[in-house]
Amino acid sequence: MKNKFIQKYPLVWSKEDFFIKIYCSIPNIATGIILTTDNSTFVIDPGDGILRDLNKDKSAAEILEISDIFISHGHHDHVGGVWSLLTYLSVMKKKSGLNIYYPKGCVEIESIYNAFTQVYSHELTYKIKLHTIVNSKSFTRKNIKIKPFKVNHREPSDDWKSTVEVPSLGFKFTYNRKSICYGGDTAYCDSLVKMANGSDLAIIEAGAEDEQSSELHMTRDQAMSIGETAKEYFLVHVPE
Ligand SMILES: [Zn+2]
Repeated sequence: MKNKFIQKYPLVWSKEDFFIKIYCSIPNIATGIILTTDNSTFVIDPGDGILRDLNKDKSAAEILEISDIFISHGHHDHVGGVWSLLTYLSVMKKKSGLNIYYPKGCVEIESIYNAFTQVYSHELTYKIKLHTIVNSKSFTRKNIKIKPFKVNHREPSDDWKSTVEVPSLGFKFTYNRKSICYGGDTAYCDSLVKMANGSDLAIIEAGAEDEQSSELHMTRDQAMSIGETAKEYFLVHVPE
């Protein structure tokens, strides 16, 4: 397999109509992923810039088709674009409902949702439904099977003397017997090792600068060792 480390965003992968595009306008500052089939449009981790990136590629009508948003965790580089995306959908008069899936304990999404619905309740044109994910049970949306799985992402504690766990998920999307495994942000963990293995595409973070920070993110070697168990892989969140 060719070395996927040297790469230029956006990253694109498709098999027939199963398509995924990973934006990262400013590497390590914002993630944004769109996943589509002929009948579905999902967004995963809408970081800052997602609306601008989508607008470059998609018509307003296509953006209005977004039915489901999946959040791996609440860090700003993964949720920074939620507010503007929700606003845009209302300004453009979206009618169909929008589902947002996020890990239990992710206060960022609940806070954004509460503030957003409070501010715009009188003019919101569509219904937003929050879905807290509490376990690894699979569910299906628009013929895509979604398997959430817990990963191990941490952040420095308030006093910077230790680290605390961040509610975090990865997702495996399976459609027409093809699968895409997205690990979100995580240290090396067994659940991701298991889920990435045999996937048609694995999207694996390699955010650790060095061995010392591998409690928070994966080193490039760790990420590659997981990625290589999939048929193809992309490394993301790579320090520049
Ligand atoms: Zn993170």
